[in-house]
Amino acid sequence: MQADLLVLLELQEKDRTIQQLRDELRAFEPELADLDSELAEHEARLAAARRAIGEAGDRRTELEQKIENFRQMQERRRQRLEWVRGAKEASTLMAELDLGRGVLAKEEAEWVRSADRVQEAEAKAAETEKEMGEVTEGQVARRAELAVLQGELRERIGKVEVEREEVTGRIAKPVLTRYERIQKGRAPLALYALHGDACGHCFTAVPMHRRQEIHNGNSIVTCEACGVLIYETETVSDS
Ligand SMILES: [Zn+2]
Repeated sequence: MQADLLVLLELQEKDRTIQQLRDELRAFEPELADLDSELAEHEARLAAARRAIGEAGDRRTELEQKIENFRQMQERRRQRLEWVRGAKEASTLMAELDLGRGVLAKEEAEWVRSADRVQEAEAKAAETEKEMGEVTEGQVARRAELAVLQGELRERIGKVEVEREEVTGRIAKPVLTRYERIQKGRAPLALYALHGDACGHCFTAVPMHRRQEIHNGNSIVTCEACGVLIYETETVSDS
């Protein structure tokens, strides 16, 4: 059993290394998420600014249409005025033309304001776009750095995984299955050294006869309380 134990400890070492490297890899995620959300925020602002240009443009077009209709109405009044005979009808048309001129002037002033608003919206969008460009540019170096670090870690993980594969080839299938089942459980590790008379994981006392079994190295002993495999450090160092 000692041979099994040694290989299992070797396997556990590989698994711990893989786990550590994966944790290191995961540690980059919050920073990457921050970078992404910073970009997303600027994208949303840019989209809103572009929408505002569209809305201001629609308002301007709407006013242009309205003004054009008014102008046509005024033109028809002027034409009618040339042909009317009755003084009463003429003065009514004159009054309508005067009123129309006032309305038109008001609408035209409104159009000028709407054109200003389009320009303002365009300037705002251009500014937002520039900011977004700066933010994107500002992230390039760090993103490249992170990609390199992640790449290195993935490569190291791949290497250790190959080594792990080699180690598992030296372990009897039932033992490996047992190890992997325990590893998937609640305990962080599958194998723990005896801690005095107790399990090194849950610190429940191990009965004398089982400690003897561990000491003899005759079997891989499972902790009755938490289910991890228990070994004695002396057994390992003696070999
Ligand atoms: Zn235990």
